[in-house]
Amino acid sequence: MKLLVLNGDGIGPEIVPAGKQCLEAVNELHDLGITFEEEHIGLKGIEVHGHACSEKVIKRIQELDGAIFGPHDNVSYPSAHQDYPNPSGMVRRALGLFANMRPSKTRPNVPSHVPKMDIVIARENMEGFYADRNMHKGGAEFMANPDLAQSIRNISRSATMNIARAGCEFAMQRKKKISIIHKANVMKITDGLWREVCLDVAKDYPELEVEEVILDAFAAHIVRRPQEFDVVICSNMYGDIFSDLASELAGGLGLGGSINASNDVCIAQCAHGSAPDIAGRNIANPTAMIISCTMMLTWLAAKHDNPKFKKAALSLEGALAAQLLDGRTRDLGGEMDCDVFAAAVADKVHNHHP
Ligand code: ATP
Repeated sequence: MKLLVLNGDGIGPEIVPAGKQCLEAVNELHDLGITFEEEHIGLKGIEVHGHACSEKVIKRIQELDGAIFGPHDNVSYPSAHQDYPNPSGMVRRALGLFANMRPSKTRPNVPSHVPKMDIVIARENMEGFYADRNMHKGGAEFMANPDLAQSIRNISRSATMNIARAGCEFAMQRKKKISIIHKANVMKITDGLWREVCLDVAKDYPELEVEEVILDAFAAHIVRRPQEFDVVICSNMYGDIFSDLASELAGGLGLGGSINASNDVCIAQCAHGSAPDIAGRNIANPTAMIISCTMMLTWLAAKHDNPKFKKAALSLEGALAAQLLDGRTRDLGGEMDCDVFAAAVADKVHNHHP
């Protein structure tokens, strides 16, 4: 089993090695047989490969068993590299990573804006309003005249089916409830198709409790009754926005782990960005990256039907929870540096052998 390590930009060279260090600890404890290979995306990718996300790198992700994918800061790239889609968009599209699963949960000893929450936003990853990835040729944003900007949103039956199924499968492993987010009362055709397909897919899971929540009402309900949601299925941009809100409600963007996955490939990638404002100071919170790595372990366990990987994910989750009780990074009101926090989690892994 080999994983590709891609540091990326901004805080990437701090949080990605932190995630790797924690994976190394569970690798040793559970004898997972993981080896690591390094490649480059972002500014370093431009320097080494002439591209922020080269074909070579994308091919390598596909060939290996998974990747730890750092954040990118594309606004910092030289102008010649600003025109193509950003590295995340390129990888998601090239590898068909249709599901972006973004958990947010309140944790003991972590200050939060809501008393209790444990949800996963299942975000559709291939289309929606994202102009850089929803057309075969050309972009999906254009100007008919200098005073009129327009964009196109894609909602397809197939992409909606894929994320609805991924969300239902996730919910079956959790509290068995899905919430389908839409604005079909106004966007009757696009969100109407989304709603129809999600409800159709949910019929294959009779054990699930299924609710529909109108987009703007959800913005209120996630603040008022966050404890009542489990898996929340959202189209691309709605999911992007609500997952940041959910992370912040639960404690902060530094906790926002996620995976981007198809049925064949999975990458661990934080929900937050490259945080250029704090980069290079060893003060970033690596928790989101560590959570992303536990999610990738769980995904690998299911793909390879290998319970050792599930146990490794549980060890890492346990170690992280224990460390958050003992000490935290500055964004969560603690005093620990990024590398010290990661080393402490890796150390605690040995006390969490399920
Ligand atoms: P990008 O353009 O790459 O998305 P950004 O700064 O616009 O970068 P984020 O990187 O998501 O967006 O950061 C938003 C805010 O959250 C910033 O103030 C950043 O410092 C903070 N932040 C994000 N991730 C972390 C983290 N892991 N630890 C601590 N603070 C973080």
